[in-house]
Amino acid sequence: MPQPNDQITDARLSILNRIRLATSAIIDFAMPPACAFCTGDLLNDFEATVDGISLCGRCRKNFTSDERSPCFKCGMPVGPYVDTRQGCPECARRDFRFGRVIRLGVYEDSLRTACIRGKSRGAETLAGALASLLWKKQQEELADFAPDVIVPVPQFWLHGFTRPHHQALTMAEVLGERLSCVCDNRAVRKTRRTIDQSSLPRAKRLTNLKHAYAACSKHKLTGKRVLIVDDILTTGTTSNELAKVIRKAGASDVAVAVIAVVP
Ligand SMILES: [Zn+2]
Ligand SMILES: [Zn+2]
Repeated sequence: MPQPNDQITDARLSILNRIRLATSAIIDFAMPPACAFCTGDLLNDFEATVDGISLCGRCRKNFTSDERSPCFKCGMPVGPYVDTRQGCPECARRDFRFGRVIRLGVYEDSLRTACIRGKSRGAETLAGALASLLWKKQQEELADFAPDVIVPVPQFWLHGFTRPHHQALTMAEVLGERLSCVCDNRAVRKTRRTIDQSSLPRAKRLTNLKHAYAACSKHKLTGKRVLIVDDILTTGTTSNELAKVIRKAGASDVAVAVIAVVP
């Protein structure tokens, strides 16, 4: 029996949304929704029908199976019972301008494959599903940070034409929707082309990104709590360079959210 709230919600649906709902029901019947990673059937997956995350139970389990605790500051796996509020042995001496890293898991096994595949053409659904899974697993951490604005790691404008899609932007938009938080992809821009960080040794990564980002003066970050979003975090150089710019623009606190950290 329909509840009063259901009737109100239904009555508020526009004709366009009614058509969209009816169309998607027909498509779901003809082509049952599949897992964005392994193409397994989602209609028989209870969790997927409840939270709308297009990943089957087996993939969710695989992506979240790492039980090592994360370092509060850099997200790298650390031993149990280690207090990492001031960092772990890996990051305690780094002058990170972000306060913490919130991540789904470690860049290993199937999560590594998913991160790589999430960059490819047509992989927006997978990238979005991974962002939603990050949100689901780290709801407490994200609520604790309580961002005012979400900023994806920007890419150089020319890459918008040459790359299949901007995974960090897809993730940031999905996280923004999940957290009911503004996603501002113009707050910071990349001012020049740089060499792919993953191809460089640790020592050269910093010089590669020197002065590569600039905050847009029209997009006020003063006093804001900013959540930087990227797919992976390796040495933290990219996020740190971005955090420097965001702090200089007046942000009160900066955190980083990624799918995976590379140990
Ligand atoms: Zn799956
Ligand atoms: Zn650490």
